[in-house]
Amino acid sequence: MSSIPFDSSGVFIAGAWRAGAGGETLPLFNPSDGTLLAQIARGAAADIDAAVAAAQAALDGAWGVLTAGERGRVLLRMSAAVLAQADELARLEALDVGKPFKQGRADAVALARYLEFYGGAADKLMGETIPFANGYTAFTLREPHGVTGHIVPWNYPMQIIGRSVGAALAMGNACVLKPAEEACLTALAFAQLAAEAGLPSGALNVVPGLGEEAGAALTAHAGVAHLAFTGSVAVGRLVQAAAAQNTIPVTLELGGKSPQLVFADADLDAALPYLVNAGIQNAGQTCSAASRILVQRSRFEDVLARMAVRYRGLRVGPALADLDVGPLISARQREIVEHYLALARDSGLGVAAQGSTDSSASASGFFVRPTLLAPVNHSHRLAQEEIFGPVQVLIPFDDEADAIRIANGTAYGLVAGVWTRDGSRALRVARTLKCGQVFVNNYGAGGGIELPFGGVKSSGHGREKGFEALYGFSTLKTVAIQHG
Ligand code: NAD
Repeated sequence: MSSIPFDSSGVFIAGAWRAGAGGETLPLFNPSDGTLLAQIARGAAADIDAAVAAAQAALDGAWGVLTAGERGRVLLRMSAAVLAQADELARLEALDVGKPFKQGRADAVALARYLEFYGGAADKLMGETIPFANGYTAFTLREPHGVTGHIVPWNYPMQIIGRSVGAALAMGNACVLKPAEEACLTALAFAQLAAEAGLPSGALNVVPGLGEEAGAALTAHAGVAHLAFTGSVAVGRLVQAAAAQNTIPVTLELGGKSPQLVFADADLDAALPYLVNAGIQNAGQTCSAASRILVQRSRFEDVLARMAVRYRGLRVGPALADLDVGPLISARQREIVEHYLALARDSGLGVAAQGSTDSSASASGFFVRPTLLAPVNHSHRLAQEEIFGPVQVLIPFDDEADAIRIANGTAYGLVAGVWTRDGSRALRVARTLKCGQVFVNNYGAGGGIELPFGGVKSSGHGREKGFEALYGFSTLKTVAIQHG
């Protein structure tokens, strides 16, 4: 199935492939045509036990004795291995996630870049000496948590593994990764590439399976010292509750309803590609998708007309046809999005424009035409809830205060974009928005390896990406030496 010799139906524990402990498998479907793609292991609690034990053994053995510089060099070799297989990883992602080839390739390159960034950073995080009492020398040490658990969703497996596992390994943790049951081929392929690049056995273990089985077992495991979860708000709350039982820290990267604010003085030519692409990238299945476009009333019709033109040019089709938009991940996800579109129709929201389905699209693929809705009242459910599909709403605003009130007026706070030529306003608005990241006169849905990322409110807490992630994936020890 792949030129990367991984076992798509296995679990990867202690550097080797084996069948899941229960011997059961789960079907994986190709979202572009609904056909069966592979059978993956249905990981069980016994697999998680074995994976945690293997990770602990790596910490007590070959992985734990490496210096920070040596760990960094392993990560750099992993980065090169990923880059050399970028086309194959993109092909797997196209089959598994339904991601257009170009977008999947960009994810593979991003994974390589995360490994390069964190490989280079591994020996750059230092402690401090502390002026303390006479006769003492006091200092701090950055140390790994130990075994870290990583639960990732299906929408950006490679990027999320890069930012989470990459940073954790750089700090000397050993990882147990639970990829999503809807799409996990690149997670498995990555384990194989990492091993071939020289990552010691047990430093990275991968157990696919259901969230409520393998995922829940990982979150409850007493041998896990830190959890990084990326996914829905509902499951994030369960993960945090499970972490509380073992009194361990948890990073939650959850959903969003991120706005882009377009002020009347904005450079619309520059803004336009970002306004649309940030909504339809990965068929809108992006945590930081700009699903709300807030436009100052005097430019509303202008922005609407220009976005509508772009929407009418969007083509939806199979992932390997590499069009603007691929299928959604599953029939269930398509039903959810269609439910929201029905709600829009029933409440009389105007469909300003839609993309078209390419003739190459199979009737059994999970396709939805990208849809632009306008005008939409800020309190409407379509303007408040995460749809996770290629649907954007346009919301008018009167002035700066109104824009901020609307932008901050959802349960989420992940990312925001601001388009204005007024530098003072850009700074003021960036400071006032309640979210984890603000882009001014650009927008990076999912992008920015170097930029700390994470949410406030229901979008989660803790930060991944950038140098900041290294603090989250390590703990601080203070040493005070009395020497007279
Ligand atoms: P999900 O929460 O259903 O699943 C995510 C992962 O959690 C999967 O691996 C799943 O198997 C696992 N899981 C499910 N139940 C579990 C349980 N009881 N215990 C432990 N693990 C469990 O999320 P999804 O619907 O697959 O993904 C979409 C959501 O993820 C959206 O809300 C999206 O915004 C969010 N997301 C956030 C980010 C971010 O960085 N903030 C990135 C991508 C996706």
